Formats: sequence, structure tokens, C-alpha cells
Amino acid sequence: MATPSDVTGTRFIRVLLSGGTSEVVLDGETVRAWGTDGRLAAESVGRVTVGAVGGRIRWNGSRLLGDTLDVAGAPGLRVGNREGAGRVRILARNGELLAVAVAPLEAYVAAVLSREAPPRFHPEALAALAVAVRTYAAGAAVKPRDSAYDVVAGVEDQVFDGMDGVAPVYREAAGRTRGMVVRYRGELARTVYHSTCGGRTEDAGSAWGKDVPYLRAQFCDDCADSPVYRWEYRMSGAEGRRVAKALGVPPGKDLRIAVTGRTPTGRANRVRISSGGVSRELQAAEFRKAAGYANVRSLKMEIVPVAGDWRITGEGWGHGVGMCQFGGNGMARRGAGYREILARYYPGTDISGETP
Ligand SMILES: [Zn+2]
Repeated sequence: MATPSDVTGTRFIRVLLSGGTSEVVLDGETVRAWGTDGRLAAESVGRVTVGAVGGRIRWNGSRLLGDTLDVAGAPGLRVGNREGAGRVRILARNGELLAVAVAPLEAYVAAVLSREAPPRFHPEALAALAVAVRTYAAGAAVKPRDSAYDVVAGVEDQVFDGMDGVAPVYREAAGRTRGMVVRYRGELARTVYHSTCGGRTEDAGSAWGKDVPYLRAQFCDDCADSPVYRWEYRMSGAEGRRVAKALGVPPGKDLRIAVTGRTPTGRANRVRISSGGVSRELQAAEFRKAAGYANVRSLKMEIVPVAGDWRITGEGWGHGVGMCQFGGNGMARRGAGYREILARYYPGTDISGETP
């Protein structure tokens, strides 16, 4: 049900492209829509705006159709600013529209790889990531986020920006590992990954409060050549005040921001913000989100006040749980194969589903 299969056995994944809006713009030379009964419901030349009216879909500001349409464009379809989304299902729900790409799983894997890893990565590192991306997607299809879709197209799951223009290196990595998934005691593993661990990966239990036997901290110095192995962010006084305010502490002249708790791997897990008698201790992850993920790249960080600003220095990029991508690339460059890479970052798991 969650993963429709066609007669050739192709698996599909349903990717939420946009939600929470009342209108979506579809672009194609010709845009066609079919109802759930398989009959052509509408056809337009050029750009089409679809809107939600309660539980029904309004086509190009005029006709009211049913609550679900399957849309395709010729030669291709653009949804919002995403190219090459393939076949897209549009659903109206209480005045909101959902646009869900129904993508062949292997094409999705290659497309996600193209957004999650640089093309200069070693083929074995890309192959390891392809298996992780596929496993994550297959797991999501078993436990979908919503009845209408399995994953979202952004960083909450895996970055997906359409299937057009995916470079051959990514398609090769997906093709070489076609169908392969990581399992732990027979179950699909939760193959999370991140850019750079900065020297040691993180326990799932420390990061998210729930232990996972194969997501345990591993020492890793193979990511030492990552451009974000070490980083520094100078947070200005004004930016610090904005962040404090956003996190519920009205900032005065005596504003203080400090790490107050760390996990066993040295990552911050508590941050205290105080000013003028108001003091709030919060999850370090909340602070990182408010300050911006691209500024505070990981929680393996120190915060030091410097002349009215804050100097934040850190190691690595991302949550640090599971596979360190730059670490996998470093291993591959030393001669490791993708199986070895996966075995290191997901210890105790097996790879299965190899297709001949
Ligand atoms: Zn690493």
C-alpha cells in the first residue's frame, strides 16, 4: 500500500514536495491530470495553478475537481521550483494542497545522492551512501510519515530536488548497489548519516534520547580532510540578541550564552541563555536551530564571549550520528570498499537484497 509496485516490480517512494499551502504552480508544455478513476480530468497548455477549496482541487482558477489528481507534464513537469519531479500526486485536504512526487526508488536514490554528496567523492564512498539512502527510504516506506507520503523532500529526511540532470557518477553508485539495503537482525536499519563527524561520531541515545544498537559513537579520523573538520563562526552581538529573543530570553547588556552540558563524545547538549534575571536552559539543538544550521555546524562546539560578540568554534557538520560521509570517503581513498564503510558506521548490521 505504501509502496505501489508496477508489473515490472519497480518500487516507488512518495516524496512530499510541498505542503501547507493553498496553491501550487505546475509548469510544463502540456500538463495533464487524471482522477483516481484513471480518467483524464483536465489538460492545459503551459503553466497551471491548482488551488485547494476545502477538500477539492480547483484547476487554473476555474473548474473544481476531486480531492486527488495524478499529474504529469510533457515533456516534463516542474512543481514550484523543482524540475523533473516525475509523476506528481496532488491532494486537497482542508483547504491545503499536498504535492507528492511518486518517484521510482532507484531514481530517487541517485537524485538524493546528487544533493547529499559531492561528485568528487570516491565511488566506494558514493556506493556506501547509496545503500544508506535506499535503506532509509525503504524504511520510511514501511513506516510512512503520513498516509499520503513516505518522506519529505528536505533535510528532515533526505534532500530531493527532482530527478533531472543527475550526474552519471550518482546513477552508477545507485546502479552498482541496486536493491541493496542494510539490515539489523533482519529489520531495515535506520541508516542516518551526516557530512563530517569531526573526530568521533555520536550515539543515537545522546543525540535523540533513544539508543539504537548499531548507532553508537565511533572514533573516526578519516574525515580530517573535510573542509568543516574544524570551523569557526563569529556570532555578532546583534545576532546573539536575536537568537536569545527567539529562544525566550529578552536580551540586555548582561546577555550570557554558555554551554552547560555535554554528551560523552563532547557534544553540547545543554545551553544556558541568561540576561537581567531571566535564565533559560535549553537543548543545545534548539540553540543550533535558532542560530542557523549553516552557522553552528555541529554541537561539537565551544562558545566564548569576545568583545561583545561570541566566538563559536567547532568540529564537523551535522548531528554526527551514523555514517560520517567524509570519513567514508577517507576510508575509500585508503582502499576500503563500500561494505567495509557501512560495517564501520553501522556496526553489527548486514547488507542484503543484492540483485544479480
Ligand atoms: Zn568522521
